[in-house]
Amino acid sequence: MKYFSTGFNLCRKFSIFVVQSGQQMEDTYRHKGLRRLLVEELVQKGITDEKVLEAIGKVLRHAFIRDSALIRFAYQDQAFPIGAGQTISQPYTVAFQTQLLQVKSFDKILEIGTGSGYQAAVLCELGARVYTIERQRELHVKAQQLLEKMGYKMHFYYGDGYAGLPAYAPFDRILVTAGAADIPDTLVRQLKTGGRMVIPVGNNGQQEMILIEKTSETETVITQHGAFAFVPFLRGKT
Ligand code: SAH
Repeated sequence: MKYFSTGFNLCRKFSIFVVQSGQQMEDTYRHKGLRRLLVEELVQKGITDEKVLEAIGKVLRHAFIRDSALIRFAYQDQAFPIGAGQTISQPYTVAFQTQLLQVKSFDKILEIGTGSGYQAAVLCELGARVYTIERQRELHVKAQQLLEKMGYKMHFYYGDGYAGLPAYAPFDRILVTAGAADIPDTLVRQLKTGGRMVIPVGNNGQQEMILIEKTSETETVITQHGAFAFVPFLRGKT
């Protein structure tokens, strides 16, 4: 047994099988060491939330890198291509968005932009109930297969994230992992009062990280949290 996690986890049914189901998912001492270094790097870069750091320290990022030539760089603080013109987010960005979201155990979270599934796994490690949507069928199918194989339990949807998931609303938290031109009203409506939504907003590959706190049914407090670069939040599905 090379990978073992202790403690209750709502999202992960098993972890020991991870090493038994494929080379790419084997968690060696080298991987563990690299993950510890990544966590230290995130601390140096200003991430302070212990629970977020712990979650990043648990997720086998190397299993989410598709290109075998890039797997050895999996624990560098970088974004990588995952096919279909998309990327797995940079660990710092994942940590920053997750920290801003202030996730609590059992929170019902809507993630828009499943992509590789890495961010969704981090949310699961925090004990959240995760609903994730992807607009590209190929990525949706691959992420679902991988996360299920890794033992993560969550809800996967293929569709346009602009519409959210009205049937499952309201959500405690909403996280958008693609750069939006503006804040979609539909999504704010699906946020619980007292809930938090994190979304990068801006054009031309440069966005400002925006936090929306819903203080009442009709009121929100909006704050800015620095510049980031995301792939675009696009309408429709492919
Ligand atoms: N959270 C991902 C990041 C992927 S990049 C990860 O951890 O790997 C952003 C993703 O958002 C891409 O996969 C892109 O296809 C998806 N996306 C863009 N617009 C979308 C939309 N309207 N609905 C759902 N997903 C969308």
